[in-house]
Amino acid sequence: MALTRFIELTGPDIAALSPDTVAVLPVGSVEQHGPHLPVATDHLIAEAVAEGAARAAAEHCDVTLLPGLVYTKSDEHAWSPGTLWLSASTLLAVLDDIGRSLAAGPVRRLAFVNAHGGNSALLGVALRELRTRHGLRTFLLHASLPADQGGASPSPELGMGVHGGLNETAAMLHLRPDLVDMARAERSVPEHLAEYQHIGFGRPVAFGWTSDDFAAGDGPGSGVVGDPTGATAERGRVLVEAAVGRAAAALRECAYFRPDAPPPRRPQGEPDRP
Ligand SMILES: [Zn+2]
Repeated sequence: MALTRFIELTGPDIAALSPDTVAVLPVGSVEQHGPHLPVATDHLIAEAVAEGAARAAAEHCDVTLLPGLVYTKSDEHAWSPGTLWLSASTLLAVLDDIGRSLAAGPVRRLAFVNAHGGNSALLGVALRELRTRHGLRTFLLHASLPADQGGASPSPELGMGVHGGLNETAAMLHLRPDLVDMARAERSVPEHLAEYQHIGFGRPVAFGWTSDDFAAGDGPGSGVVGDPTGATAERGRVLVEAAVGRAAAALRECAYFRPDAPPPRRPQGEPDRP
């Protein structure tokens, strides 16, 4: 069982990989994250969680770590300088090309480790596209889920911590404190949304939004939707370690998952599967 870095291998090395090797693709973004976080926030979190999870999972299965996909679908932040984004159709085409060319080799398992909520729906579409078009077994893992996709949002955020808020800021204080400026962190929660009954984050009716939609006055607002002010590095450490642990356990299952059969019985002496 081994962890390899795909781009450090040779062509013949890659040709010799097992079909059950899990290729891990970190999926981040380059987009505004308010005045207190760098535009690489999602990229850095995706890489950290994917790297940690790949290393831990590789004690039990073969994992090859692909270089992360940095530019993705961030049109909800297109209003801000610093957001470098692909359209939905471009990103789907890029994912299709990556899957097609990966499938030209022996590896048949591809797992996305996503750290940007704006990618989630499209990555879900790509799972089936890559399955049907190129025969890959495909998986979507999240470094963390934003509040509009079933994730937790701490109480100061009223369930609306979807961008640049408490948890994301804490994760960055743990991973790259040199890139965080807490003096510029401001609470920006669109509390008026709580008065709607059916439509909202985590409610039955979703809505299309951009991150400059929520500002009540003139201008686009801070770009934050959440409350980063209470973030600490210790909270971030706990969150990131938990995310790595969850993703490692999931990657391990990705190595043997097949939809037409139960998990294989574990050999004597192997630790319990998650
Ligand atoms: Zn983010």
